[in-house]
Amino acid sequence: MKYDTDVLVIGSGIAGLYSAIKIAEFADVILVTKKDRAESNTNYAQGGIASVLAPEDSFEKHINDTIIAGAGLCNRNSVKILVEEGPDRIKELIDIGTKFTEKDGNLDLVREGGHSFSRIVHAKDLTGKEVERALINKANSLNNLQIIENTLAIDLITEHNTSNLKNMPLNNRHCWGAYVLDVTNNCVKKITSKITILATGGLGQVYLHTTNPSIATGDGYAMAYRAGAKVANMEFIQFHPTALYQNSNSMQNHSFLISEAVRGFGGILRNGVGEAFMQNYDSRRDLAPRDIVARAIDFEMKKRGEDFLFLDITHKKSSDIIEHFPNIYNRCLSEGLDITRELIPIVPAAHYACGGILVDEFARTSLSGLYATGEVAMTGVHGANRLASNSLLEALVFSNRAAEVIKNSINLVSGEIPHIPEWDDSGTLTPDEKVIITHNTKELKQFMSDYVGIVRSNLRLRAASRRIANLYVEIEEYYKKTKVFDSLIELRNLVTCSHLIVKSAMLRKESRGLHYSLDYQFSKEESIALDTIIQNKYQKS
Ligand SMILES: Cc1cc2nc3c(=O)[nH]c(=O)nc-3n(C[C@H](O)[C@H](O)[C@H](O)COP(=O)(O)OP(=O)(O)OC[C@H]3O[C@@H](n4cnc5c(N)ncnc54)[C@H](O)[C@@H]3O)c2cc1C
Repeated sequence: MKYDTDVLVIGSGIAGLYSAIKIAEFADVILVTKKDRAESNTNYAQGGIASVLAPEDSFEKHINDTIIAGAGLCNRNSVKILVEEGPDRIKELIDIGTKFTEKDGNLDLVREGGHSFSRIVHAKDLTGKEVERALINKANSLNNLQIIENTLAIDLITEHNTSNLKNMPLNNRHCWGAYVLDVTNNCVKKITSKITILATGGLGQVYLHTTNPSIATGDGYAMAYRAGAKVANMEFIQFHPTALYQNSNSMQNHSFLISEAVRGFGGILRNGVGEAFMQNYDSRRDLAPRDIVARAIDFEMKKRGEDFLFLDITHKKSSDIIEHFPNIYNRCLSEGLDITRELIPIVPAAHYACGGILVDEFARTSLSGLYATGEVAMTGVHGANRLASNSLLEALVFSNRAAEVIKNSINLVSGEIPHIPEWDDSGTLTPDEKVIITHNTKELKQFMSDYVGIVRSNLRLRAASRRIANLYVEIEEYYKKTKVFDSLIELRNLVTCSHLIVKSAMLRKESRGLHYSLDYQFSKEESIALDTIIQNKYQKS
């Protein structure tokens, strides 16, 4: 097999596959992915993709909706690009073979929270799976795109890996590929390339409860940070208010999402003693925006020391529930829960990282030769809070832009790839026990959820920071003397991501968007009266 290519893409979600398909039109591409090719956040996306496709809708409305959600931190130019280039990318997805749901011969456009217009294209409630299917089909048909599964990128290669250029200043370094772990054969390989694209998705696994699958261990953020690329806005983690609570002790949990549509359908949130409580937090009650509902649930749980609360839909007709939510009904039933008769145990779960590797409008990072696209990138479109269904769109628009600029610049990558040594693990030992990984992963998730979750404070952030420093030292020591394996690499990355989240949160001396601190009021323009209510309630509890 050839391990030298024009472009290395890391990740096979929407961002990685779409970039690779576009680039394969003019260059050789190797795409590595750490599990099988379909396993990704993309595969679990339910709702859909936002785009201006109806004649009565307008770019200006979608831009405004996005900027309002972003709580003052969106980059207007990036948002404009996102919105204006979106419709062409959706058309391309359809051309590739994606089958979106139609109504009367047209795309069935639906509305979601925060959108002023019905502009969400979807494939029932399994949009991500359908998009992933179509992209994989297309990718499989391309000769100069080689997909290598069960291959986990460990670290990016730059001049710092060479013997003669290792002291080269950061500004002059270039990314020349990555060292990757062949998980099946347990050996490390180097893949060299002129251009490298990180499309590794999010970091939900930092937290105890997350809607993200086990792949979301923040590898891309950590690799880029170690290689010297800039990251930004890491404090803005979006929590989904209602994920199915499962008392799982597994290291890499993955909570099933109970869509917000259930509350839209009349679902009522109840505390442990069965009382509805949203009227105490917001006049919109159970239909308040995602972040407000998540904070309210967090306060109620902390007040009574409960691990979960309930969502009640039992007052609705059984046949209507089953018709509207077949996926949710069947999944809960498979867990022994009949949602037409029983309350659904729910907990807020980490869902989406708004920040990431800082990129320009062509997905270029601050490190030459390195691009980042999809959830791992910080394009500036989400600001302090992501508008629903904008993330799949962001992945499409900026992956396409990356491909365009790479097409025009790949031949300008100057000089030969420097001599890159093979991975050197001499002097390291095969681990005879992994308890240090399981224990530390659980500990990290627990304190990140308790101290750096939906509600933060200076005290909690300092406490988390001290624990991260301890874990970092312990894991680095273990890493240096051990032959690498997947969960070690992932824990090392989770610790680095936790550090980045806490560091960014400590730098932000205000509450804004998804970053809520008990020590700071929301800025005036956000003017959320809820603030006072929540703080009073909290102080009483
Ligand atoms: C349950 C759920 C529902 C959602 N619903 C929506 C929705 O309706 N609309 C919307 O716009 N967004 C939604 N989102 C968010 C959206 O799905 C993600 O932001 C988006 O899919 C991210 O795409 P991506 O390509 O950047 O990353 P992913 O799809 O996560 O792909 C990342 C890829 O990188 C691979 N990878 C990671 N690390 C490594 C490594 N070290 N080496 C090799 N490979 C690696 C993974 O295996 C995976 O293939 C949802 C997310 C979840 C979890």
